[in-house]
Amino acid sequence: MHIPHEQIQYILKSHQLRHTDCREEVLGTFLSNSFALTHADIEKKIKESFDRVTIYRTLKSFLDKGIIHKVLDDEGTPKYALCSQKCNNQAHNHEHVHFKCLNCGQTQCIEEVNIPKIDLPKGFAIQEANLLIQGFCNKCNK
Ligand SMILES: [Zn+2]
Ligand SMILES: [Zn+2]
Ligand SMILES: [Zn+2]
Repeated sequence: MHIPHEQIQYILKSHQLRHTDCREEVLGTFLSNSFALTHADIEKKIKESFDRVTIYRTLKSFLDKGIIHKVLDDEGTPKYALCSQKCNNQAHNHEHVHFKCLNCGQTQCIEEVNIPKIDLPKGFAIQEANLLIQGFCNKCNK
């Protein structure tokens, strides 16, 4: 899937990031995949070769600016997915669940399903909540 250069420019600009070739390639990769990606997935998918450190820095700046977020699953390797419009360089705003498919192994954001409100015992303060649902995705569950 080809992502227009203008769309990538717009996203970078609206998150106060300068355009670089690596940022363009990495962002294009996220935009053309509907599921979460690991560092290794991104390395494999981008056309030009950038060294690991450059890709790492690109992911870090996207995380800091609210373009992508970490998706926790049971594999221990960090995966990343695109944020919705609500995230910026001040804060990420995520209440959605993540779904991991046991057949294709892909993890994706389910933006339309929120994590239910969690009541913690007195004295505990919640900072972040992650909810991973495992099962079969709508492509595999046929
Ligand atoms: Zn976010
Ligand atoms: Zn699947
Ligand atoms: Zn997500």
